[in-house]
Amino acid sequence: MSSMAEAVLLRNVVKTFGSFTAVSGIDLAIRSGEFFTLLGPSGCGKTTTLRLIAGFEQPTSGDVMIQGRAMAGEPAHRRPVNTVFQSYALFPHLDVEANVAFGLSLKRVPRAERRQRVGDALKLVRMEAMAGRKPSELSGGQQQRVALARALVNKPSVLLLDEPLAALDLKLRKEMQMELKHMQRQLGITFVLVTHDQEEALTLSDRIAIMSGGKVLQVDDPVGIYERPTTRFGADFIGETNFLSASVVGRLGPAISVAVAGTVVDVPAPAGFSGVGVTLTIRPEALRVASGPAQDASDLLHLPGRLREIIYIGTDRRVVVEIDGGETMVARVQNTDLSAALPSEPGSPIWLACRLTALRALAD
Ligand code: ATP
Repeated sequence: MSSMAEAVLLRNVVKTFGSFTAVSGIDLAIRSGEFFTLLGPSGCGKTTTLRLIAGFEQPTSGDVMIQGRAMAGEPAHRRPVNTVFQSYALFPHLDVEANVAFGLSLKRVPRAERRQRVGDALKLVRMEAMAGRKPSELSGGQQQRVALARALVNKPSVLLLDEPLAALDLKLRKEMQMELKHMQRQLGITFVLVTHDQEEALTLSDRIAIMSGGKVLQVDDPVGIYERPTTRFGADFIGETNFLSASVVGRLGPAISVAVAGTVVDVPAPAGFSGVGVTLTIRPEALRVASGPAQDASDLLHLPGRLREIIYIGTDRRVVVEIDGGETMVARVQNTDLSAALPSEPGSPIWLACRLTALRALAD
């Protein structure tokens, strides 16, 4: 049985469209009150997963539970959820207030309560002053606020958000991200967001599920997703990263010993790992760059190589190095006085170093 701590529970959920499998056996336990994000590239099945929770689609097999209740056969309008879409889908002929009140009118909520709840919802999204306007008299951000108010006025247990900010320009999107986060904290409602924007996911979420090819690859908090990726896909999709091939030379319980760049280091073994070769990943900001090998060597992996180029990107420089053995690595160096001392001539010998704890071995 599920516990009530879970707002949404998916058990081995599969969704096929004809011969195409859009969702391929997903298990997810979304906790009550958390900001949970489904993150992945276009076509990975995240919107379909959201629609299965909303009740706009029925699973081919598996179970969807919301607050401990099985949702099989439960139509969308009877589920304790509301959805906010990328296209705001406001009624053009109704003003802001009437748009937000629409669902309550259908449910025959008494007039006084309706006014109160609509007022509260508009206040929450800072749109009280525009209650009398038509959607055509609002900006994109304002329309999306109204769409949010229209969903929140129903007091859903779970708010489903399908790329709600994708149509907004960058500055407005950042503003709305902060507002969404504050609103979620204030209301304590479970939010489930679908996005392909990794920065948005990291900024907003308590936890993130990385999806690819209809599967969930990893569920973790933003720090875990960024710093402890478990798959090559996940490491690559979130931010910039480096990959290094290594061969496995030993196994000691939860760790594997791998030979890389002429040394042997121990790293945590990926779940279910068995093999002779493994890919290591290192974030560019975890790499130090020096014109000679570092002295305090014991907890560092040294990667000697030759400078290919340095790209200036304002706050940082991207230092591209071909390490001995042929692989190309990128280090990010903050622009301080220290970085000025680096060689700049392509072909110059250069050393990269990183802490052993910054190395992650990937499952695939
Ligand atoms: P995007 O970010 O582009 O919306 P997504 O990760 O949300 O991508 P989904 O919309 O879940 O992806 O779609 C997953 C796959 O299922 C896609 O290849 C899509 O073409 C397919 N699909 C979705 N809905 C249907 C449908 N009704 N009939 C057939 N195929 C569908």
